[in-house]
Amino acid sequence: MEVTAYGAALDVTGSCYLINTGSNRLLVDCGMFQGSKRIERKNYIPRSIDPHNIDAVILTHGHLDHCGRLPLLVKAGYTKPIFMTEATADIAELILKDSAHIQEEETARDNQHRALFDMPPLQPLYTSEDVAKTCQLFYPIAYNHWKEVAPGLKFQLVEAGHILGSACVEMVVNQYGSKRHLVFSGDLGQWDVPIVRDPATITSADTIFMESTYGDREHDSYDLTLKEFEDLITDAIEKEMKIIIPTFAVARAQQILYQLARMIRTKVIKSIPIYLDSPMAIAATKIQSKHLKDMDDEAKGLEQSGQLAKDLSCLKLCQTSDESKSLNFVTQPCVILAGAGMCNAGRIMHHLLNNLENPKALVIIVGFQARGSVGRLLVEGAPEVKIFGETVHVHATIKNLQGFSAHGDQNDLLRWLKPMIKNKPRIFLTHGETNAISELAFKIEKEFEFKAEIPRYGETIQI
Ligand SMILES: [Zn+2]
Repeated sequence: MEVTAYGAALDVTGSCYLINTGSNRLLVDCGMFQGSKRIERKNYIPRSIDPHNIDAVILTHGHLDHCGRLPLLVKAGYTKPIFMTEATADIAELILKDSAHIQEEETARDNQHRALFDMPPLQPLYTSEDVAKTCQLFYPIAYNHWKEVAPGLKFQLVEAGHILGSACVEMVVNQYGSKRHLVFSGDLGQWDVPIVRDPATITSADTIFMESTYGDREHDSYDLTLKEFEDLITDAIEKEMKIIIPTFAVARAQQILYQLARMIRTKVIKSIPIYLDSPMAIAATKIQSKHLKDMDDEAKGLEQSGQLAKDLSCLKLCQTSDESKSLNFVTQPCVILAGAGMCNAGRIMHHLLNNLENPKALVIIVGFQARGSVGRLLVEGAPEVKIFGETVHVHATIKNLQGFSAHGDQNDLLRWLKPMIKNKPRIFLTHGETNAISELAFKIEKEFEFKAEIPRYGETIQI
């Protein structure tokens, strides 16, 4: 049998593996390439993947870089099931709908411009209709239940601890007289982080495809990050500041709300207005409450008893843009959570425009900021930034917290790998930039005394 990586090979986006057993063909993930225009040009289904000839797709989790090319696959003729956990089905639907909406809007804007020069209109990569057709193929399954896809070919999804519903794929192929046990890590989370459960321990495999996003880094400890977060919020409330937190809608917004709730519950802070200014984060928070059984015990208990809702009685949801704009006139101390998390689009841009010049504003950056984003400039201490073409002088306090990552660091990755090492599996490192992958490969060799392999885009590996 053979496996080919059609994305996230020496790169962090576009996750997609084609598994060809000789009798059957499967995809694990079919994600979107994200970043520069050059990278985004890879957003197509390669000719070597025949959508009519794929027996099943398995999705590890709902992030766009893992599910974002699924509508292209369906548009090209794929009609079989797309397996995933129940929570992932809801998250992937939310994320794909948003992605189609953004592409439709961007294309409409580009076409207005093209019309001025008599250029033919462009089509969006995919539309909301394509996404609706894709979601009809979603086939949610429970964690830890083997599912047979074809004779001699089965898989199960186990907890990856990355975001709600995230899974690693264990696949057993028993065809043509030989047995293979493959593991695809998907994205792996950290241990001992609230809401999501810890990554499951997988004890055997002969072939492992594992992510390396933070293969070269150690995060600040989660507890240390929490302490810093607590100190910042307490201090800002004392000084009657407006606290602005750019946040990703899925997972990060819920983590931050969870921590604010804890601080209110334990009386570290008094109850102040908290505004969740993001329709997508509001939807993601509702999805989380729907999937209690996939949360860790503490979060489940707090949700079930109604304690979390009680702690967050000061939470106000801003669905409409008028509700969002009304926050400009709030003068008392408050917390505003808004997207996009990287400060490159969305309602957060208006809050930054209105508050960066205010010395009584605190901006807490809690996520990765891509090069070129306003968030990155703020983290790097820029004295002024451009927002909607306007130069804005930064008088607000800017703080950056690194430890809230949904990805495990180098230690977490090695911890996940260790129980599988005894059988000397072949390890393929994917989903990481060159440095992160090389550093992780070096660590694996040092710690376990054998070499990990690094596949390239489109390279077919014989297993
Ligand atoms: Zn992810």
